[in-house]
Amino acid sequence: MSDCLFCRIVTKEIPSSGVYEDDVCYAFRDINPAAPVHVLVVPKKHIGSLDEVSKADAAVVGHIMSVIPAIAASEGVAGGYRVVSNIGPRAGQSVKHLHFHILGGRDLSWPPG
Ligand code: AMP
Repeated sequence: MSDCLFCRIVTKEIPSSGVYEDDVCYAFRDINPAAPVHVLVVPKKHIGSLDEVSKADAAVVGHIMSVIPAIAASEGVAGGYRVVSNIGPRAGQSVKHLHFHILGGRDLSWPPG
């Protein structure tokens, strides 16, 4: 989608600080980090949010889950990090392209705000 920020980041039309990439997903540093490690993992395919994941997308989401531990390890936070996906305005979703936040590098309180 040409008007989607993360689609434009995936195509490198908008620059980002990438940390991992494969055929299915791209991971890059959050521009406004909420923790010492704050990486966003997005599918290359445009999916609006977890609410819009179809059965056909299950492999995409599963793949992203499978690469997150390696990304966390490469960022130095293996064994102590959080994965978050905000869905909709009430949860604070600001970019309507499915993404998983990887947050780590400090103690993370619970429940989140
Ligand atoms: P959410 O609020 O869950 O939709 O998360 C969107 C995230 O995207 C926020 O944490 C933003 O800081 C981040 N973000 C917005 N624009 C950019 C950008 N150009 N590069 C990297 N991260 C971004």
